[in-house]
Amino acid sequence: MIQKAKSLKKHRQSLPIYSARDVIIQEVKDNACVVIVGETGSGKTTQIPQYLLEAGLAAHGTISVTQPRRVAAINLAKRVAEEVGTPIGQKVGYSIRFDDSSSRESLIKYMTDGIMLRELLSDRLLLRYSVIILDEAHERTLRTDILFGMVKSIQKQRQDMIAKGRKDIQPLKIVIMSATLDAEKFSEYFYNAKIMYISGRQFPVKILNTVEPQADYVDAALVTAFQIHQEEAPGDILIFLTGQEEIESLEKLIEEYAVDLPASVGKLIPCPIFAAQDSATQQRIFEPAPQGTRKVILATNIAETSITIPNIRYVIDTGCHKSRGYNARVGIESLLVEPISKSSARQRMGRAGREAPGLCFRLYTEDSFEMLEEDAIPEIKRCNLESAILSLKATGIENVTEFDFMDRPSKSGLLRSLEHLYALEALDDEGKLTEIGTKMAAFPVDPPYAKVLLQSEKMECTKEAIEIIALLSVDTIFSAPSSKREEANEARQKFTSLDGDHLTLLNTLRAYESVKGDRDWCRDNFINSRHMRHVMDVRKQLVQFCERAGMDPKKSCGHDLEIVLKCFLAGFFQNTALLQPDGTYKSILGGGLTVSIHPSSSLFGKKREAIMYNELVFTTKHYIRGVSALESAWLSQAAPKYFGQRQA
Ligand code: ADP
Ligand code: MG
Repeated sequence: MIQKAKSLKKHRQSLPIYSARDVIIQEVKDNACVVIVGETGSGKTTQIPQYLLEAGLAAHGTISVTQPRRVAAINLAKRVAEEVGTPIGQKVGYSIRFDDSSSRESLIKYMTDGIMLRELLSDRLLLRYSVIILDEAHERTLRTDILFGMVKSIQKQRQDMIAKGRKDIQPLKIVIMSATLDAEKFSEYFYNAKIMYISGRQFPVKILNTVEPQADYVDAALVTAFQIHQEEAPGDILIFLTGQEEIESLEKLIEEYAVDLPASVGKLIPCPIFAAQDSATQQRIFEPAPQGTRKVILATNIAETSITIPNIRYVIDTGCHKSRGYNARVGIESLLVEPISKSSARQRMGRAGREAPGLCFRLYTEDSFEMLEEDAIPEIKRCNLESAILSLKATGIENVTEFDFMDRPSKSGLLRSLEHLYALEALDDEGKLTEIGTKMAAFPVDPPYAKVLLQSEKMECTKEAIEIIALLSVDTIFSAPSSKREEANEARQKFTSLDGDHLTLLNTLRAYESVKGDRDWCRDNFINSRHMRHVMDVRKQLVQFCERAGMDPKKSCGHDLEIVLKCFLAGFFQNTALLQPDGTYKSILGGGLTVSIHPSSSLFGKKREAIMYNELVFTTKHYIRGVSALESAWLSQAAPKYFGQRQA
């Protein structure tokens, strides 16, 4: 144990940021806002909170560090708890949606920016906190942007109260941390805050582009990884992919291919990293590969700047990521695979040169690189603003069009969101939060889901609503290995409901429960048992939230499942489409966009008069997923305000 503590201390002192420790402490003591820019891996996220703690800055409240990603919040908190030398949840804790591992005595708390926004609801001046560190500021997520405006205003309010003689109020310190050099914008916004630059270590990285565009980047990544493994010097490989599904499929492919390696070549060990993963597996990415073997880390852009993985010498960059986009044509949020920006590509490349010179294989051409955007467009300019607006309204900011955004969202985007919230009955005619809206803001799910939960109380199907939302919280609960697609389809028939995916999911859950989640059963029925466990977890959390909101989470509609679909329609009336005489489906909104039922849906190839869907994904066409059949007569009942308004 003592040995371990010693080596952790040594590690801490070896980080590039260590030499700036005293200056950082002094600057934070002397200034209300500080912007700190430092290369990824220099030690910002793990060290700065500890420095401030050691300097006594947690004497009047917790030091909070916000993160855009859950995995990062958990992982970094665990690491820092270890460095501080207390179990996680005591001096150092974390809090993410559906998982709180912090306590009143936590002095350093890592949290997602979404959770921070929720805390604002119960602690309007964030009096529990002495320092707010807004990390990964360069990512410019919607929530971080809202937090910027809020903490800025809170800091001012606390200053004003102190100026008026309030002895019980302490000032709030704000620290903005970013991995990219473009920090002037943050500084300007925070009253020309001082910018500190922390230099890191960076060895040269050689870039190798493909000559031709790649049709299938997963396949190209597979081939490249094995080439590196067989031809290049030791050192681990980091592959950037877009999501869990892709990561898992590449992991399988690597395992399959590895069997054919000649005995003289060492093992190639795939190490995936994503959110729904137990911590032992996650810790494995930080441990050195056994002698004579090589690790290949499969990550999303979490590994771009949030988490630094040691010993990477080779980066394979697919050039893509998933981002939450706003489909302006139909006004529906969708998760799209998109090209990254040049600055992301440079960050990814940099990951290969942390400890020695490295190689970066870009699976796209030099010309494609030149065509990338310089920087990612801030989420607020692309995204569905409704959750944000609800949070703003619930935190007492009435006039959202006047909010101090770092980048103002488009007026049309704001107005469209306000309209949708009005249709959901979250806002009244004057744009004020209604009782429903207030309740919706307190639920940790997007407004349409919150509406479904609230509606379920009236329709007496809360149990089913919770279950279906939990089931929808994972990408898919089914597994369909390409080699056994037919068997998987056959197994699925047992659960398939003629009414579509919502009830199919529910049937599957019932069957899963009847065998108590038996793993063999899952395997035989092509159910992803890890995802199912995650579903059960989310269900538990939603049950707690409903209980807290004074609802009865056990209220069930029994066999009358039609009511569940009506209940979902109350939140998703915008996601509806009608069958056309020519057999296609046209969305009711957005000037009648033609949508196609995704092959993974149980209604694929079926013709029903009206359908409702959970998400819209654009690949080669507008695919809809999570689809259920409706009667068109239900529509006007579900959203009288909405459909009434349209007719008028
Ligand atoms: P920055 O925020 O500047 O990018 P971090 O503070 O996240 O840097 O990381 C500093 C160092 O700590 C890195 O070298 C990283 O590899 C190491 N580190 C972070 N988390 C862990 C962990 N869970 N296990 C081992 N090392 C870690
Ligand atoms: Mg960091």
